[in-house]
Amino acid sequence: MRAALLELDPATSPPRDDLIAAATMYAGLLRPHEVAEWLSLRWARYAYRSATACFGPVDERTFAAAAVLSTVMAAYRLEDAAVELREQIAARLTDRFGPAHPRVHTARVEIAVARHAAGHCVQAIDELAEICLSWARRHGGSDVVTVTTRLQLAALHDACGRHSGAARRAALAMRSYHPPQADSPAADRPDLTWITDPDHTHAVLCQHEYPRRLLRRLRDAARNPLNRRHLP
Ligand SMILES: [Zn+2]
Repeated sequence: MRAALLELDPATSPPRDDLIAAATMYAGLLRPHEVAEWLSLRWARYAYRSATACFGPVDERTFAAAAVLSTVMAAYRLEDAAVELREQIAARLTDRFGPAHPRVHTARVEIAVARHAAGHCVQAIDELAEICLSWARRHGGSDVVTVTTRLQLAALHDACGRHSGAARRAALAMRSYHPPQADSPAADRPDLTWITDPDHTHAVLCQHEYPRRLLRRLRDAARNPLNRRHLP
């Protein structure tokens, strides 16, 4: 597949079912800059553009291509464009399924996480807190999605260096959570893979003072080894 796609140009390739599926998978597997000329981004754009033209804006194949394109754009540090695309997709999911649907909730959480990664962490955390609250009002504090969303909120606080706020929210989430019995259906268990990994580069973009201060101290220490003993 990879060899076949390398023979083609995403800018001139026709919108074809098999090519859209291959491009969606290929763009999702490639690491950014693995091959020259922004190839993963160009194939991801091809897949989304062609899927929209062939299947329409609310087809599952278009949603899949959009998710890959958004992830690839973020990997190329085009985070604001990635957030914008996720907002368009969330609006279409809302039109199709209604604002209370779990897929809309997940899409909104993903927007907040993407916005946080783009460095708009104050807005992202406010949004995620509101998303979490509105889900908890409908489904209760011990609902698995409420628990998972609260843990995601704790993860964002933690990435911003607000460790006590993160610990408080994580403790609240775990206190509300009642572990299922061994024979409970898998749907009753929180899907913790949903929570994003800690973003170790977030300190560069963070709007809060603590990570920036820590980053400055790390830089100073790198320049002057005598300062290293003052690091936390
Ligand atoms: Zn931050």
